[in-house]
Amino acid sequence: MRGVVLRGIAASPGVVVGTARVIGDAKNAFRRKHIHVSKVEEEVKRLYEGVELARAQIVEVSESMQEAAGHEPAAILGAYVAMLTDPLLLARVEGKIRTDLICAEWAVVASSEEILRLFDRNASSAQADTYLLERRHDVEFVSDRIVRALTGRGNRPLAHFTVPTVIIARDLSPADTAGMAKEPVLAFVTEIGTKTSHTAIMARALELPAVVGLNDALTMIRTGDTVIVDGLRGEVIVNPNAIALEEARVRSARHMEFSRDLLSSRHERGATRCGVPVSLKANIELPAEAVLALDQGAEGVGLYRTEFIYIDRFTMPPEEEQYELYRSVVETMAPRPVTLRTFDIGGDKFVSTFQLPAEMNPALGLRAVRLALRRPDVFLTQLRAMVRASAHGDVRIMIPMIASLTELHDVRLLIARATAEVDAAGHARAKHIPVGIMIEVPAAVMLADVFAKHADFFSIGTNDLVQYTLAVDRTNQSLAPLATPFHPAILRMLDVVLRSAEKHNRPVSLCGAMASDPIAALLLVGLGFRELSMESAAVPEIKAALHRFTVEECRDVATLALACEETAAIEELLALSFASRIHDILTGASGERAT
Ligand code: PEP
Ligand code: MG
Repeated sequence: MRGVVLRGIAASPGVVVGTARVIGDAKNAFRRKHIHVSKVEEEVKRLYEGVELARAQIVEVSESMQEAAGHEPAAILGAYVAMLTDPLLLARVEGKIRTDLICAEWAVVASSEEILRLFDRNASSAQADTYLLERRHDVEFVSDRIVRALTGRGNRPLAHFTVPTVIIARDLSPADTAGMAKEPVLAFVTEIGTKTSHTAIMARALELPAVVGLNDALTMIRTGDTVIVDGLRGEVIVNPNAIALEEARVRSARHMEFSRDLLSSRHERGATRCGVPVSLKANIELPAEAVLALDQGAEGVGLYRTEFIYIDRFTMPPEEEQYELYRSVVETMAPRPVTLRTFDIGGDKFVSTFQLPAEMNPALGLRAVRLALRRPDVFLTQLRAMVRASAHGDVRIMIPMIASLTELHDVRLLIARATAEVDAAGHARAKHIPVGIMIEVPAAVMLADVFAKHADFFSIGTNDLVQYTLAVDRTNQSLAPLATPFHPAILRMLDVVLRSAEKHNRPVSLCGAMASDPIAALLLVGLGFRELSMESAAVPEIKAALHRFTVEECRDVATLALACEETAAIEELLALSFASRIHDILTGASGERAT
């Protein structure tokens, strides 16, 4: 036995050995005490003192977040402080102390569990309380903070460690992770989350290994346990034996050597072995990631998911605040281009600021450009901020989820209006800002030749294109194997879009997760893509993979792939054609080359 081996999702690469620190289980770390009726007032007073202390600590973390994640502290602060004084939670807690005669900690945990149960009951009902749906995570976070304050464990910041530590938690909010940015954290392990959850994104940004979606992490791992976190395999080994420790040490060294090798050529331009340039750009969510993108050798930002600006706050982000965020990204990347995508909210991307009604099929509902056109006030604010940011570099505006030409025309009218308003206010801007669309709805593929006449560029969002073409919910983990971009229908769609764009001389990029898979990237180059946008951490790997093949080799494989009738045949073809020559890249370790 190498130790207890737990498997989750590989969310951020690297291998470390460290001591576990379990956090987020404050709800089990106090004694459940009944109180005498004469002590009720005292206990209620203790509750509110705890709330005040928790508030002060959140303020502290929010301030440190500004540096770590580039978020506006006021926005985060507003959301959590509002939760702390939310009658939904506090009135329940006080009521429980008074009527059930229990201590404040117990009352907080019992109340938050009641609210969460309410959430679970309502989660799939049409009358779901959207407020609760969206704030489930915050209820857990805030009650955890109050309990910590009450038990005295909150006297220190959210996390404060003196020895290098592996953080084990059920989930980590952006505030948690950012609060730990300055601590000696070695790795993150969480019970919930996916490759694109906040913990995964932040771990990659901080260059720390992470394994997420690891069921039972809190049951199987105790504070003080020695753990190996393998962010390449998505594996955690608890209390490993000497053999497993030695293996981890070797894998860690190989991975570091491999990363160093990859990064050493980061400032070379992306190109194939025969010298054909392929522009490799970064997808970012937080402004602070722009620096990381540059560091990884990205040639621009191909997708800035601006909806993250709207998360964790109760009020809409004002024009000035958005302008400063966009400007900072544009200035960091200048003279490289930055594609600002207008907010893609709705669907699986809940944002409470909009107070969206519950929908039976959110992915098919009021999302992205549809929501933007329904809320021109909010949309115009964002467009003005984007237009103003164009004064500082090469800015392009991209619209998500376009399904009809009418939508694009309506957006263009609003962009024209935003531009006029920017001029009237006396702000500077670029003379011309290209406006492109995401191709992620099958209708846009079928109309690609039409859109090519009206949009300045295309970027294919395969995450959604796969979801809508194959009718597979992208958030449903049990259907994940069906959601493959190697489906013959998807390859044909990519080919259709490329041909239409080519006819009208429009640049076309691909910014779905597919672009960060080395084998897929080689196929895409073979199909004809000369621009790909991906999470920054993948840029060096994709650059290295492209350097090993000529366009002709890639094109031959792509031609065969387009003729395949089944996913399995495509996958087999790609593995046979590409895998052996990039085995080290696929395994993330230089010593693991195939012989
Ligand atoms: C996509 O759909 O592929 C995409 C890049 O956009 P998002 O993942 O943000 O929906
Ligand atoms: Mg999308």
